[in-house]
Amino acid sequence: MDIKIENLRVFNDVAFVAHSARVSGVGKVRCECGGRRSCERCSGSGMREPTDEEIFTMILENDYSSALEHVVFSFEIRGLSKGNALELLEHRIASHTGRSTRYQSEVDFDFNLPPAVSRILEKYGIDEVEYKKSIARDALVPEIADEDERSILESYAEAIGTARKAYSRLLQRGAGKESARYVTPFAIHTAYTYTINLRSLINFLGLRLCVRASPEMRELAAKVYMAVREKFPPISLVWCRGYNFAACPENEVRDSPQGKECPFRNRNSRVFIPTRKQIRMGITLQKFDSEAFEKLREELLRRWAGIP
Ligand SMILES: Cc1cc2nc3c(=O)[nH]c(=O)nc-3n(C[C@H](O)[C@H](O)[C@H](O)COP(=O)(O)OP(=O)(O)OC[C@H]3O[C@@H](n4cnc5c(N)ncnc54)[C@H](O)[C@@H]3O)c2cc1C
Ligand SMILES: [Zn+2]
Repeated sequence: MDIKIENLRVFNDVAFVAHSARVSGVGKVRCECGGRRSCERCSGSGMREPTDEEIFTMILENDYSSALEHVVFSFEIRGLSKGNALELLEHRIASHTGRSTRYQSEVDFDFNLPPAVSRILEKYGIDEVEYKKSIARDALVPEIADEDERSILESYAEAIGTARKAYSRLLQRGAGKESARYVTPFAIHTAYTYTINLRSLINFLGLRLCVRASPEMRELAAKVYMAVREKFPPISLVWCRGYNFAACPENEVRDSPQGKECPFRNRNSRVFIPTRKQIRMGITLQKFDSEAFEKLREELLRRWAGIP
């Protein structure tokens, strides 16, 4: 749970998206007054110009997404594992500048803990930071009776410890950073300066705020979501792909072990979202309870971002 999103900047806003849509051409909407002659908004015609917020929502709902590309976010990502950074880079519609392992020393590299290790530490109330420090000091991992669990902690500590020592030794013997980095693990921290437009960000969040995404990518997506929301509240209009489309494309996954954790899968819940396959079978979205969803969203964000 080491990921941090820092120095977020937002270029352009809802008003600019609405402006671009108006340049393109936006129809009028029905006025709330119902055509009252004294109405200032529609001069009695019953039809008025939409507000910036209404245009923005319409663009999102109707998926006229090119207008969303005018809003751009730049931020720094820290504490992402090098291994999972590859998953981030699969999102091609973004710009990124990464920490160089050719030029920066990784002698004291920090690293992420995999889910299996975190689960054991949590079960026994062992502090993650302390466990990581014990690896650095070559100290013994805590005594745990369960042989499998102990072995998982030991194996992980051993691998990280060995990589650290080998890296330092390679540098001392003159191999250079460019070569020494070959022994660094999947878990080693990396950092990115990242720039992504709103259209691509929605695609990223839609795919990664999902129980199918790997835990670290979910953590990243949850933290990006919270950081963006602070400066760009309309991001609250989007969530996972199922929510955004009112139909989940992960048809088969719902019945898999991962899918069982999907909070939208229960047909009797107030936040049921059908899969596309279910819709074809005649199972449709029932009345979706927005308040229940908002509560659920906060819970998921906290859980996935590791906030107690
Ligand atoms: C749960 C999960 C599991 C995954 N498992 C794997 C895996 O096992 N192996 C693996 O390799 N990847 C895997 N991925 C990555 C996935 O295949 C995508 O590469 C990644 O999610 C980026 O999505 P994207 O292509 O929509 O995003 P971007 O690359 O940002 O593209 C955004 C959109 O632009 C369009 N686009 C981009 N490039 C092209 C193109 N060349 N041609 C046409 N349209 C384009 C598409 O509409 C696309 O949705 C997984 C992703 C998830 C969420
Ligand atoms: Zn009116």
